[in-house]
Amino acid sequence: MNSKKVYIIIFIISIVGISIVQYQYLRIGLNLAKVQFNQKIGYTVDEIKEGLRSQNELTFLVGKALTKDVNYFNLSMDSVQDAASYFMNDFIKDKLLQQGINTDFTYTLNARDSTEYLASPTSYSKDEILLKYPIVLDGYLQRLINRDPILELQFKNLNKYFLFQLNGLIIPGLLFILAIVFVIIWVLKSFYGQKKLITSTNEFINNLTHELKTPVFSIGLASKILQERSSNENLELVKLIRTQVDKLKNQIEKVLELASLEEKKNFIEKKVIDFKPIILSLSKDFEKLVTLENIDFSSEINNDNYILNCDAYLLESAVNSLLENAKKYTKENVKIKLLVYKENKKLFISVKDNGIGISEEDTKRIFDKYYRVSSGDIHKVKGYGIGLNYVKRIMKLHKGKIIVNSTLGKGSEFIISLPLYKYDK
Ligand code: ADP
Repeated sequence: MNSKKVYIIIFIISIVGISIVQYQYLRIGLNLAKVQFNQKIGYTVDEIKEGLRSQNELTFLVGKALTKDVNYFNLSMDSVQDAASYFMNDFIKDKLLQQGINTDFTYTLNARDSTEYLASPTSYSKDEILLKYPIVLDGYLQRLINRDPILELQFKNLNKYFLFQLNGLIIPGLLFILAIVFVIIWVLKSFYGQKKLITSTNEFINNLTHELKTPVFSIGLASKILQERSSNENLELVKLIRTQVDKLKNQIEKVLELASLEEKKNFIEKKVIDFKPIILSLSKDFEKLVTLENIDFSSEINNDNYILNCDAYLLESAVNSLLENAKKYTKENVKIKLLVYKENKKLFISVKDNGIGISEEDTKRIFDKYYRVSSGDIHKVKGYGIGLNYVKRIMKLHKGKIIVNSTLGKGSEFIISLPLYKYDK
């Protein structure tokens, strides 16, 4: 399974997980809201009982409606009952609101034998499922009708009411989940878009370099033949062509090797070898090369052997890249030092120069592909920003590391460390 699928699966599982957790919290919230509601209803019931216990304006009116006594008010029976029903409704509503309950309700006032005496102005249809809270009233009304009056409070659809109360948690929770989903999808989309772009750019560069290889090889061959046949006056020009063609060949090789390293083709061939003779000869070759250019090159290659399990060709190219850079990014009185030694089961190869140096900011980026320091004298020095990235990849394939210590204007030291296959001090 590719990494994209793994990330998408983890993302989906996480979102489903968060949603389930949210749902569970919601259920807990609902249960808590129910417990709290019952507690509040308990207080309201006490308050209502207390309010209807003694004779007052409300119980007096309700009493007249219950006993169907219209003489006192001089009104029709319906009007007295309507008035009592509304006043009782307001009284209950007020008591509920005092406890913070603001939801629809109905009520009935019955005696034990279930004759309905009074009902709320509105009522629910008979087949609604209602939550009922009966309150047995005592005191004035009980004495008046000589039976136990039961006031029943009825609520429907309380879940809707609880959910409405929890909206302060549900809506932000949903919005946050949506925001996370949106941002992650956007990040994944742009990440894979970028990756696709980089892959196609790399493919283009690799194809182009492949195409360049044949003509460059032909020019190399032709210039070699030309060199053999040239008269003295043209020889210098032909030599110039050859050195430039060689440089171009090297760059092409590096781009192609880098592409192979990236694609992890069976490009690397590791063998257990002694790297010491290889680095000695590399150092000698470099010395020969730089004496012509007036560069002070010194080397210190310690210990007897460097047994490594490595692709010698790749390691050699890596060290060569560092030496080439030390030669490229110089000032006057160029000094380059190659130091090789074993320590703590590792081989260390250090290339130190007194060149232009690198700022702290840039040292973080010079190992990135195509990165070149874009200030100062950089335009004088040709390059493509692939050398150090190439070295870093080679190190990774050998479980090694590369670090840089550098001071701008003073010089740099690049240090490679590689695990030794056999360590005997
Ligand atoms: P290139 O040399 O082709 O530009 P590299 O990947 O080898 O690419 O190097 C990346 C950048 O790091 C260079 O452009 C240069 O600015 C900086 N650099 C590398 N080696 C040195 C050095 N020895 N001294 C100063 N700067 C260096």
